[in-house]
Amino acid sequence: MSVIPPGSTIGILGGGQLGRMLALAAAPLGYKVHVFAPDGELVASEVSAETTRAGYDDEAALRRFAERVDVVTCEFENVPSHTLAFLEGVRPVRPGHEAFDVAQDRFREKQFVESLGGTPAPYRAVETIADLESAIGELGTPAILKTRRFGYDGKGQIRISSAGEAASAFAELGAAGLILEGFVRFQHEFSILVARCPGGQEQHYSACLNRHDDGILALTTVPATELDPAHIEAATSLVVRIADALNYIGVLACEFFATADGPVFNEMAPRVHNSGHWTIEGAETSQFTQHIRAICGLPLGPVGLTAPRVEMKNLLGRDIDRWPEILADPSASLHLYGKTEAAPGRKMGHVTYRSR
Ligand code: AMP
Repeated sequence: MSVIPPGSTIGILGGGQLGRMLALAAAPLGYKVHVFAPDGELVASEVSAETTRAGYDDEAALRRFAERVDVVTCEFENVPSHTLAFLEGVRPVRPGHEAFDVAQDRFREKQFVESLGGTPAPYRAVETIADLESAIGELGTPAILKTRRFGYDGKGQIRISSAGEAASAFAELGAAGLILEGFVRFQHEFSILVARCPGGQEQHYSACLNRHDDGILALTTVPATELDPAHIEAATSLVVRIADALNYIGVLACEFFATADGPVFNEMAPRVHNSGHWTIEGAETSQFTQHIRAICGLPLGPVGLTAPRVEMKNLLGRDIDRWPEILADPSASLHLYGKTEAAPGRKMGHVTYRSR
């Protein structure tokens, strides 16, 4: 088990708010951060020692980057698998490309989870309009047509309410590898975050109860008292099996639907996760610190709650204008990501409330 000691440099692929919060967590442990990202506003770079702006296919830039860091991790789950495999030839990449191969393809992800005893939503692969029509015949409506790859925050998916909507939904998403999911009548949505070290040591956080608006996470509350403890346990045990099967290193987040029959797996993210932002103030060790500890082979920290109840609200678009009132509230902890343009639905920051 190789330890990456404090004083080393952590390379992060991706330059968004998750990278920014990872870099902020790396600093008190004495690590430096080097961000590698192609374009856009790199809010992670503002708090990192170095940045390489280059494409994920630029092997010369990737090699130079890898040679200047001691370990590589991702804050963005759609980094191409071949990029990760290339970097693995130069430096440890944690988590490794296997987790991304699974998480980047909704069909493969569901098959993988089933092979470990988990229950995803009913699903069918769709390549042609005829596939879609027969999948609707089998799964019924409503159903959700999704792209197999590159979907996030509810993007790349269309709800189909009747068989008559098949052609327009298919035309809208294009034929680039789709999946039809049966509609899950859930009572709640929740996520489980597990951290796993190179030696296999694991820690998991209290289950997070999540509310999404228009497919985007709006609110997370902990503890998830509304959920059946047996369902939380079943979901947590599945996430641990997923992490073990992938020999996963770092924080792994899995989202679930809570139904009367038990947890239904929705999707996994091989990285720190928005539903874990509450841990910055609400847990003894934040998910960001935990991820840095795990990928550097340090002992994991404790994960207990620091308050009886913790709530995290995302600040989307112009919600950011509420910062004066949030700062005036002593129970609120404000996090702004430093993004310049508050486009509708864009994650500009979050606020965590701890009950006393
Ligand atoms: P996703 O990007 O796949 O996590 O989907 C975004 C949101 O759409 C989820 O958080 C759910 O609220 C909803 N959703 C996605 N898939 C399903 C499904 N199969 N059944 C019911 N709701 C779904």
